[in-house]
Amino acid sequence: MSTLTTLSVPDIAKLREEFPILHQKVNGKNLVYFDNAATNQKPKRVINALVNYYEGFNANIHRGIHTLAERATRAFEDTRLEAQRFINSREAEEIIFTRGVTESINLVASSYGRAFLNAGDEIIISGLEHHSNIVPWQLIAEQKGALIKVIPVHENGELNVEAYQALLSAKTKIVAVNHASNSLGTINPIKHIIDLAHEAGAVVLIDGAQAAAHLPIDVQALDCDFYCVSSHKMYGPTGVGFLYGKRELLDKMPPYMGGGEMIKDVSFERTTYNDIPYKFEAGTPNIGDVVAFKEAFLFINELGKENIAAYEHRLLQYAAERLSTLPSVRLIGTAPEKVSVQSFVIEGIHHFDIGQMLDTRGIAVRTGHHCTQPLMECFRIEGTVRASFSIYNTKEEIDLLIEGVDRIVKFMK
Ligand code: PMP
Repeated sequence: MSTLTTLSVPDIAKLREEFPILHQKVNGKNLVYFDNAATNQKPKRVINALVNYYEGFNANIHRGIHTLAERATRAFEDTRLEAQRFINSREAEEIIFTRGVTESINLVASSYGRAFLNAGDEIIISGLEHHSNIVPWQLIAEQKGALIKVIPVHENGELNVEAYQALLSAKTKIVAVNHASNSLGTINPIKHIIDLAHEAGAVVLIDGAQAAAHLPIDVQALDCDFYCVSSHKMYGPTGVGFLYGKRELLDKMPPYMGGGEMIKDVSFERTTYNDIPYKFEAGTPNIGDVVAFKEAFLFINELGKENIAAYEHRLLQYAAERLSTLPSVRLIGTAPEKVSVQSFVIEGIHHFDIGQMLDTRGIAVRTGHHCTQPLMECFRIEGTVRASFSIYNTKEEIDLLIEGVDRIVKFMK
């Protein structure tokens, strides 16, 4: 069995001090937070940035010429530059702030789909997708008479790449897959998926919700057409994220929403639209959260994604090994390449009951279908218990999870 020896990140105990929320009792026990794939916790620097914005320079951006408006605009645009660096996009203008991955995918499905999809065209998604990367495509497919094809998933949670190749054809217009699965943790071979899609003449959208805090992202090297990120999955505030899109595509896509900021000139007869990114940022954006989002990028950059990934990988391996030794526990999602997510079921015990009993021990896990109902169906289960690990989690916390699950099994059987 592997053990967590020297950490490649300096000091987890010290790092935990940066996360005030972790230091509390839940149901009389020290909180063990293993619901990081749903949303991870926020370090003080992110929380402070939000407070500083509202206490120091809250103002509406872009249009104001007074000092506070200029400060707020600068801080907002600084986050865009940080996002550009984070994913290595060619231009900052290719970063569009949205509410998160869900809105980013809806933007592309609605705008790109409205302009470029026709009856009989095909959209390929995968069996691993979150509902956010299924339903927007269903909505536009229905409007346009397009068809959705689904890449099947192997028993271990990997995508069937040969089946994907067989689905691709001249009819394929869009391929939309996640970088990493929220339910199983599988890291998908997105570079290969993108290259094959491009050979078929399709554009590719990558749902990066579960990748941003863990995996390196270089949109130029990947050559993806769209990439979607949520701040709240990467130590930033909720309610904000961004869409990356290649300029040549964003320039020719129609606006998603109409309103202030996205226009050049408005008359009752005719309106002309602003340049990207503003064309897609109608209305007053979520300024405070965008400003604080910058601190999340810096937090990850300072720790180093390779360090984060290496540490979390050891937590994952330890958890998977220990869970698999427990009687009646079946691991769901055993692909060789995974982010730090481990789903499991226990024969004869409903996942909700397990979640509730772990909660009485102060352990927060997610239970249910994780917004991936088709995937659950493919495994012929209703849902799983999902423990997902972050940089502030420890081996000792995993021991508490194992002890809890072990007790539940013994108590219920
Ligand atoms: N895709 C995946 C893979 C996710 O895990 C999530 C969040 N659970 C989403 C999309 C949706 O993200 P958001 O709710 O932040 O828009």
